[in-house]
Amino acid sequence: MGYAMSRRRQIYEGKAKILYEGPEPGTIIQYFKDDATAFNGEKRSTISGKGVLNNRISEHLFLLLGRIGIPTHFIKRLNMREQLVREVEILPIEVVIRNVVAGSLAKRLGLEEGTALNRTIIEFYYKNDKLGDPMITAEHIAAFGWATEDELHDIEELSVRINDFLQGLFAGINIRLVDFKLEFGRLWDGEFSRVVLADEISPDGCRLWDSDTNEKLDKDRFRRDLGGEVEAYQEVARRLRILPEDGTPQVLNLETHRKAKAKSKE
Ligand code: UDP
Repeated sequence: MGYAMSRRRQIYEGKAKILYEGPEPGTIIQYFKDDATAFNGEKRSTISGKGVLNNRISEHLFLLLGRIGIPTHFIKRLNMREQLVREVEILPIEVVIRNVVAGSLAKRLGLEEGTALNRTIIEFYYKNDKLGDPMITAEHIAAFGWATEDELHDIEELSVRINDFLQGLFAGINIRLVDFKLEFGRLWDGEFSRVVLADEISPDGCRLWDSDTNEKLDKDRFRRDLGGEVEAYQEVARRLRILPEDGTPQVLNLETHRKAKAKSKE
């Protein structure tokens, strides 16, 4: 571990990530761990290589979302396990977007997993581990001031756009985006702030099913003891074409070749 790395101040350690102070004020480094937890931390393990994959997958999705005009905290990936992001005030709300019945929705309402919803459902949960992230409504968010009315409006609008984009993106690689969780943050600029997409988007917080076989390519492999977690995450990365072994011979790609050459001369 380098000198600068070990000297950095740790700001926070979560279940799957560590946050460090960034190189400049207003920046943060997100370090992706291999740790996996489920059922509010009751089930724990490490999945070797998961952090590297989530870092890459999340980088890729945040960059694509940025390109379609979704404001995000993402600045750049630094290395295999770290990315530089803007410091934001994370709103204490988990936003879950559902396209297909699964998980807690199936359980709570006695519905069959895999049933397509005839409209997308957006749910809110209060981010509080001690309470087990209870489900809340917009009323609670307003009453307790967890977000302003304008912020909540932006969150809902952004969530719909993100869902539309990601559903299409995944459909194009034969994956059903069943449901996923988003977190948003308040990015301050002087006395004003705006809501931006924060945290990560990876198979840790999404349900991704193969469109043909319904095979699970996400954290349910861990939650439900199915095994093959890393292989599944790798398969998602492979289909997104962000692994070197995606079938494209790298040296035969002129653009890659040119860039590699330019880089080696730096
Ligand atoms: N999710 C998450 N973090 C949480 C709770 C849920 O990332 O603390 C994700 C989960 O991976 C799934 C979606 O949100 O893609 C909906 O999860 P659900 O409410 O069905 O809860 P679960 O079955 O995971 O307990």
